[in-house]
Amino acid sequence: MLDQIREMSVAMKEETIALRRHFHMHPEAAWNEVETTKKVVKTLKDLGCEIVQVGFGGTECGVAADLKGGRPGRCAGLRADMDALPMDEDNDVPYKSIFPGVMHACGHDAHTAMLLSAAKILAEIRPKLSGTVRFLFQPAEESGLKSGAKAMVEEGALEGVDEVAGLHIWAQEPSGTILYRSGPVMAAADGWYLTLKGKGGHGSTPELAIDPTITAANIVLNLQAVVGREVSAKETVVVSTGVVKAGETAFNIIPDTAVMNGTVRSFNPEVQNHVEEAIRRVIAGACQIGRCEYSLDYKRFIPATINDPGVTGEAVKVFGALAGTENVKEMGLIMGSEDFSYFQQKVPGTFFFLGSGNAAKGTDNAHHHPRFNVDEDALPLGAACLEGFAWSRLCGK
Ligand SMILES: [Zn+2]
Ligand SMILES: [Zn+2]
Repeated sequence: MLDQIREMSVAMKEETIALRRHFHMHPEAAWNEVETTKKVVKTLKDLGCEIVQVGFGGTECGVAADLKGGRPGRCAGLRADMDALPMDEDNDVPYKSIFPGVMHACGHDAHTAMLLSAAKILAEIRPKLSGTVRFLFQPAEESGLKSGAKAMVEEGALEGVDEVAGLHIWAQEPSGTILYRSGPVMAAADGWYLTLKGKGGHGSTPELAIDPTITAANIVLNLQAVVGREVSAKETVVVSTGVVKAGETAFNIIPDTAVMNGTVRSFNPEVQNHVEEAIRRVIAGACQIGRCEYSLDYKRFIPATINDPGVTGEAVKVFGALAGTENVKEMGLIMGSEDFSYFQQKVPGTFFFLGSGNAAKGTDNAHHHPRFNVDEDALPLGAACLEGFAWSRLCGK
């Protein structure tokens, strides 16, 4: 059946490309995917899918829908994110974004198109399917504070789903390759926001002031000791201070306050917990030493993306059959984050990558670059991997 799935996906290539170009030309940023959602809903209804829910997070964006097979069985989820980015496109292509300030620069147009093609092909082989495929067209992957995946999970989009798969286009690997990883694959992203309150004064009489810059400097240095001295060298974690602001007008004024922001990236939840506790301790200690008062807001934005070893192992066999085992590679850790992790907190799943880099075609620019583009020749393989995952989870080989 996997051979047949591959052939059907290749035969649908032009249709998949046309879909991708439609979404590329009409990009919608996080929580604005209204027209994209409408087009997806119409296509799924035409295929005979049952709509589970349209609209998540109090919006009209996002779809969960079921394709029920000819026989009862398990339920496999397939997810695509649909949002574009708030930026201008610099590509000179006929399907360039027609909306100023919005661009599909991460490949989510391709994700949406591939999952719709997968839905069409799975609908064609529906009588042979034992069980249900749940299509999860997600809004707002790029939004950070209000995650589309989190909203879908909280509103029940995974009810009844046994396992889930998602893929991301990856411009930094050549077209035709599939990248996988078992266990942690993308980092958890936390942010911390700190205001230090001292007491302003004249630069010549520091004894009459409480200088928050000294405390800020202590914090910057001691945070690096958290990574270097409190976390095992076998773990991967980053603590970065991105903002330090204090004073700005004159060389002889001791500022009243200092503002600091930073980020933490980690994979192991135990390390994440320890680092948060250590950051709170370092800040409290430095403020005690420096006599500063402070307010700290520590936020956990996105959890780590952790692939289930069992599901990933089975998926890798499918990818090998579809792409050729020589084109399926294990990948390293990525310090960026991905809210697919919320689906994986609910059910076992795997998040894998579809190489789409081709220097000759100019599709090797970094994600979020104004000239990011996708090698469309890679799309049939991506669609086939989604179909193949669902087929293998429901029907075996
Ligand atoms: Zn992105
Ligand atoms: Zn992305």
